[in-house]
Amino acid sequence: MHITRAKLTAFVPYMLILAVITILPMTGNDYRALIGTRAAIYWILIAGLNLIVGYAGQLAIGYVALFALGSYTASILAAGTVTPEIPPALALLAGAGVGAVFGVVVGLPALRLRTFYFAMSTLGFATIVTQVALGWQNVTGGGIGLSGPSLPAPFDTAWGLYWLCVGLAVVFTLITANVAASRFGRALIATRDAEVAAEACGISKPQLLVSVFLFAGAAAGLAGGLFASLQTYITPDAFTFDLSLLFFISVLIGGRGSILGPLLGTILLTLLPEIAAPLAAWSTFVYAGLLLLIVLAMPGGIAALLDRESRKALPSGRAIVPQHDALQELLGGKRLQQRLQMSGILLKFGELRAIDGLDLSVEPGEVHGLIGPNGSGKTTTLNVISGYYRPQEGSLTLGGETLPAAKPVKRAARGICRTFQTPRIIGEETALENVMIGGTLAGRASFVEALLALPRARADERQIKATAMGALRAVGLDSLADIRADRLQHSELRFLEIARALMLHPRLLLLDEPAAGLSVQEILRLGALIKAISREGVAVLLVEHHADLIFDVCDRVTVLNLGRVLAHGTPAEIRVHKEVVSAYLGA
Ligand code: ADP
Ligand code: MG
Repeated sequence: MHITRAKLTAFVPYMLILAVITILPMTGNDYRALIGTRAAIYWILIAGLNLIVGYAGQLAIGYVALFALGSYTASILAAGTVTPEIPPALALLAGAGVGAVFGVVVGLPALRLRTFYFAMSTLGFATIVTQVALGWQNVTGGGIGLSGPSLPAPFDTAWGLYWLCVGLAVVFTLITANVAASRFGRALIATRDAEVAAEACGISKPQLLVSVFLFAGAAAGLAGGLFASLQTYITPDAFTFDLSLLFFISVLIGGRGSILGPLLGTILLTLLPEIAAPLAAWSTFVYAGLLLLIVLAMPGGIAALLDRESRKALPSGRAIVPQHDALQELLGGKRLQQRLQMSGILLKFGELRAIDGLDLSVEPGEVHGLIGPNGSGKTTTLNVISGYYRPQEGSLTLGGETLPAAKPVKRAARGICRTFQTPRIIGEETALENVMIGGTLAGRASFVEALLALPRARADERQIKATAMGALRAVGLDSLADIRADRLQHSELRFLEIARALMLHPRLLLLDEPAAGLSVQEILRLGALIKAISREGVAVLLVEHHADLIFDVCDRVTVLNLGRVLAHGTPAEIRVHKEVVSAYLGA
């Protein structure tokens, strides 16, 4: 394996933390064991929460609920007041199980509710859990509480428990880092920053989020059980809103899409009240202040402060030079060649007939131009084909088979791929990672295999990465592979989107104004690239305003006006078509 210096320096902070973890017990101070154990327990929960808040961008602010559920489950089962007494280790696992189940229950609203409303729903759940803990006295002990599971030797001493929790914290660091580095981690970020593009790449958000909610819930439940052991006694007021805020803000000060940042955030927020004891009484105030500070002064969190890669100078005088041999390698081989047929498609927005009885076919190996004035329904046509809109009338078939209605994720799997009129790119990810999003469906390993970085998951990564490098070469962006996408020029983003679409081995490629914002030379290269893609047997539907590009590369052209076909024919026919010239092309 090739290890770069950047990769080595990325390990340094983890090594320092490990060093502190190892040195701490040598001080023999039991109070430090308590703080260290607490930080480790918090991190087990926050490591899971990080995937939800930092990676998927879901504002889960009430995670203390799952922590409390794990705590109570483990304590009740270990105490044996309700059920036969259960060994503490099993009780902890049961706490994790209950956490996982309720993790999904708390998480499901995220599939329907937007940010703020989802945040409120998690908070509501936290209130319910506290109320139940208070009210269900014969099980939970009500306000008086109950004792936590007491673990067997060697975990029954302060340092024994410390090592157990720190060990588990290390494990959770590793497995969340594994997920983050896998296609699942990239898919989470894609649903966060470019949801529509994620769908177009075949990423099913519900399926993905459920896996992550299960995992994060289990982590929270396990952490809760360990917390009960640490506290030796739990009452409902151990699980305050402040604690929930601590979890949430640890991720935020850490920074989105990072493992190290939230880890440092957790350590910082656990230590803060200890170092500055008077602050403890002011914790809500301090957290609110920190939150404001992060939002205003450092939206990227600790991770952004540590990120030096993205401040390096970019290669100057760069040009986009597509490599046709790489394209052949990427798309070569036998491809199922399929024809797209749209018949009598009607799509209304209220009373507006955006598409009004459209017939259109695109043959494999053909570049079909779709032109027309602004608002004539070109983008809407692409949205119907890629499954974002469900037409009120008409049929849509690919290779003679009717396409499943209005499911972008399913269309991507059938090889219908697209770019967007405004590029939908993840700015915080590198060019290579953006293209790798397109390879999500190519992976074979399950979420659990990715968690553990099992051989199949590692093979997936190698293969997706190699294909993505090929796709970058094919569109001429390989020299920018490691550059964050938000540093690229607009024209480069257009080619980047094509590379991402090529990752899906398209049968039908939909391009929405790919030449907008490109220089004359870039348009020529784009034209050659589109031609080359179609020569590999791909059907290409090209929406464009640049008449030169359309007439250069298209085999057939359809002209839309007010959602209807105004004209249809070869470029030579369209160029001289009377109505088209007067309505659209101009004299
Ligand atoms: P263009 O040919 O410029 O790509 P569009 O397909 O974007 O045109 O739009 C076609 C018509 O449909 C326009 O009148 C536009 O205002 C309308 N339209 C597009 N999307 C929507 C929407 N989501 N809701 C309502 N009207 C829409
Ligand atoms: Mg448009």
